[in-house]
Amino acid sequence: MVDTHTHLHFHQFNDDRESIISRFEEDGIDFVVNVGVDLEDSRRSLEVAKLSDRIVCSVGVHPHEAKNVQENFVKELEVLAKEEKVVAIGETGLDFFRNISTSEDQRRVFIEQIELARLFDLPLIVHVREAYEEAYRILSGEKLPEKRGVIHAFSSNYEWAKRFIDLGFLLGVGGPVTYPKNESLREVVRKVGLEHIVLETDCPFLPPQPYRGKRNEPKYLKYVVETIANVLNTSFTVVEERTTENAVRLFKG
Ligand SMILES: [Zn+2]
Repeated sequence: MVDTHTHLHFHQFNDDRESIISRFEEDGIDFVVNVGVDLEDSRRSLEVAKLSDRIVCSVGVHPHEAKNVQENFVKELEVLAKEEKVVAIGETGLDFFRNISTSEDQRRVFIEQIELARLFDLPLIVHVREAYEEAYRILSGEKLPEKRGVIHAFSSNYEWAKRFIDLGFLLGVGGPVTYPKNESLREVVRKVGLEHIVLETDCPFLPPQPYRGKRNEPKYLKYVVETIANVLNTSFTVVEERTTENAVRLFKG
């Protein structure tokens, strides 16, 4: 399995980060994409990525942090993007649910990172919350990196899923697909199929149903795989293999 969205450098892992990483192989984790949320945090993400051959890194500025960046933040991001471990730009995007940064700041910082991703031909890891229409408007109007990227923690309906898939993006599916009330996300998975899905935990956040309220970690990805296998009436192994192929193509192809 590939966990395409982790934050293993966050403080929630300070006590057992190295033991979690050392168990990746026995837990069935081929590799993880460890994701930064601002410049300083992306540097920490990169440091953690250097601890293991099974960790690669994404660098970027989350929409919540858009209000804090300097005018020339992309120059600094560019320096990080050149590092060998860096395989993606993000997480970046729009969050009109919490609106911690103004929508103007969010748009500007998102567009600059789309341009950087295109320049370096790196896929994007896109955070979208209550902003699917605006994110789609921006992405469909910009020149995109060839590999496009992932709509992380996808949480809208099939119509929006289809639009982003038609742009060439994959959907990141994680813990929320296991929640009993989330039939709408399972419906998206059913209609979209394995071709357009990658797995993710977003750990330490969004744990699957058996661990709700606790800290999430990459090994809990198996609950997501089980749910997807049920929804698609297929086997655990098929879900594992196909989503791994998608992730390898996107981040290591
Ligand atoms: Zn995240």
